Amino acid sequence: MIIAELRCVVCGRSYRPDEVAYTCPVCGQAGTLDVCYDYDALRRMVAREDIERSPDRSMWRYRALMPLASEAAVPPLTVGGTPLYDAPRVASALGLAQVWVKDDGRNPTGSLKDRASALIVARAMAEGIRVVTTASTGNAAAALAGLAASVGLPAVIFVPETAPEAKIAQLLTYGATVLLVKGNYDRAFDLAVAAAERYGWYNRNTGMNPYTLEGKKTVAFEIAEQLGWRMPDAVVVSVGDGNIISGVHKGFRDLHALGWIDRIPRLIGVQADGSAACYQAWKTGADPATMEPINAQTVADSIAADLPRDRVKAVRAVRETNGAFVSVSDEAILAAIPRLARESGVFAEPAASAAYAGAQAALAEGVLSASDRIVLIVTGSGLKDIRSAMRVAGSGHPVAPDIEEVEQVRQALGLPSLR
Ligand SMILES: *Cc1c(COP(=O)(O)O)cnc(C)c1O
Ligand SMILES: [Zn+2]
Repeated sequence: MIIAELRCVVCGRSYRPDEVAYTCPVCGQAGTLDVCYDYDALRRMVAREDIERSPDRSMWRYRALMPLASEAAVPPLTVGGTPLYDAPRVASALGLAQVWVKDDGRNPTGSLKDRASALIVARAMAEGIRVVTTASTGNAAAALAGLAASVGLPAVIFVPETAPEAKIAQLLTYGATVLLVKGNYDRAFDLAVAAAERYGWYNRNTGMNPYTLEGKKTVAFEIAEQLGWRMPDAVVVSVGDGNIISGVHKGFRDLHALGWIDRIPRLIGVQADGSAACYQAWKTGADPATMEPINAQTVADSIAADLPRDRVKAVRAVRETNGAFVSVSDEAILAAIPRLARESGVFAEPAASAAYAGAQAALAEGVLSASDRIVLIVTGSGLKDIRSAMRVAGSGHPVAPDIEEVEQVRQALGLPSLR
């Protein structure tokens, strides 16, 4: 699709897509860019029914609404097309009218980040770029490494050396060059920027590259189509850098501008108490553009960010949809892992179970009400961080290979015998 312009979210200046690759030259890193389209032209070119007829179940069924030339090749891994489960036991446990669980842990590398990396790799191929790079707490890196491997593109990854080992295992297995940064995500981010600058590599850094969000917005397209274009009352999603919630917002804004949906749901952003910069800015009415970094600490590594890179768009997403931010404790995030799993069968990593904990908090605070119908986005698979899951999963029952020991366990647990 043809991009009309890139517009700075802070100063409103517009740029041609060939003029600027990353953030606003005037505003610096706070000035992330919106990818803007000519919706009148788009409306004439594509209809909802065209999409509904597409046999492609992946995110590329929406490629007419994405910033990629129509003839451009896309990576072969199947990204998107993830299930949206009606989860009545989650709804009744939380005390909500209806809850759907969007299981984006089902993507090829196990997180929603694949949507962004698929588009970035497709754009890199179209432009003949030979090396891609990113900083990441783990999932964006795994996504870039996997998608790059699928097309034979070298990837250089900057991760904090403390990233969960499953994520580092993914990077190494996909054959990426992995730089284990002695420092946190924010230090890794700056190092990736410096390396991309120095060597001319294409930088996928979240919130800096305007196109990651354009890939992530496809999760909103899928939710809309899976619900028959009838909007839920709210969508609850966790927030670290704020790129996913901004992508969800952009997806719904695109559909609204096209007249395919009649309203945009409220967006509820969930942060961890130890990494709650967007929550604070929203609550105090502070200008997110001029925020100072905090020292983020949370068990949910994928949402730890000292200075959320897409904070301006994230706060805008919540303000413009009359949504809210909520902040939840690490204990609540961990406790939500087995609850969500037992009530829906979906196993989430901490940053994803945070959405469940956030819905609980939102109800307790009156941000959501019992009559609401909501979507929880599960952004990453529980297999990403087994250590966290094991802290709350309980333990097994050691037995000798002897049926009488099974009998003792059965009696102790009160499990029925069906004989
Ligand atoms: C990246 C990520 C998030 C947060 O997305 P942001 O764009 O950083 O706000 C949440 N959950 C998971 C599993 C992630 O990988
Ligand atoms: Zn600007």
